[in-house]
Amino acid sequence: MTAERSPDLCHVCGGYRFQHTPILWPELVQMWGLSPAEAAYIDIQQGTRCLDCGSNVRSIALALAILRWRQHEGPLTRFVEEESQAALRVLEINEAGTLHGVLRLLPSHRIASYPEVDMTRLPFADGSFNLVVHSDTLEHVPDPARGLRECWRVLDTAGALALTVPAVLGRLSRSRVGLPPSYHGAAHADNPHMLVHTEFGADLWVAVLDAGFSSCELVPYRFPSGLAVLARR
Ligand SMILES: [Zn+2]
Repeated sequence: MTAERSPDLCHVCGGYRFQHTPILWPELVQMWGLSPAEAAYIDIQQGTRCLDCGSNVRSIALALAILRWRQHEGPLTRFVEEESQAALRVLEINEAGTLHGVLRLLPSHRIASYPEVDMTRLPFADGSFNLVVHSDTLEHVPDPARGLRECWRVLDTAGALALTVPAVLGRLSRSRVGLPPSYHGAAHADNPHMLVHTEFGADLWVAVLDAGFSSCELVPYRFPSGLAVLARR
């Protein structure tokens, strides 16, 4: 574990000190067929954290996507306290890491968690939300296209989806159907809810536009480790 002072800002809390703990393990690197460079950037994506709020790089990229959508300087902790954001109707699908503790401060925040709520059958009327957020959830959904279409459906016409998903950028997305089962996190091995159905790649944006969104903006943070998707309905 190494602590480092970084010029990068944490867009969740405004901190600027980070530490890194290795996350990937050799069997996963082999199963995913990752090159050393890919393993290195994915390890930063998952294992480098803000010392002040604990956010990892993917959570910070996700915060940046939300702030960009609202044209707010941030950090997210300040954003949620502003009166002008109080009416924002936010749906968070499964806890989005450290963003959960921040987003839930918004008065109209809702959380929908698996298995009580299946993201391919959201129990909400069309146009119910201004913002839908999920983080590293889509790869676990057997039908991710349907999950994305449901996000589109529950957004109002000016709404947006902000998401992260593990993506290997040097290849195209592929289904893991017919491949040996892969789980995220050694602690989750054999937990069917943590099974990975899709390995996303450089064509991630196609899945977003196919779901009906009018645009798909990629929001980098410490690229290529951090990458969030901002999709406008
Ligand atoms: Zn932070």
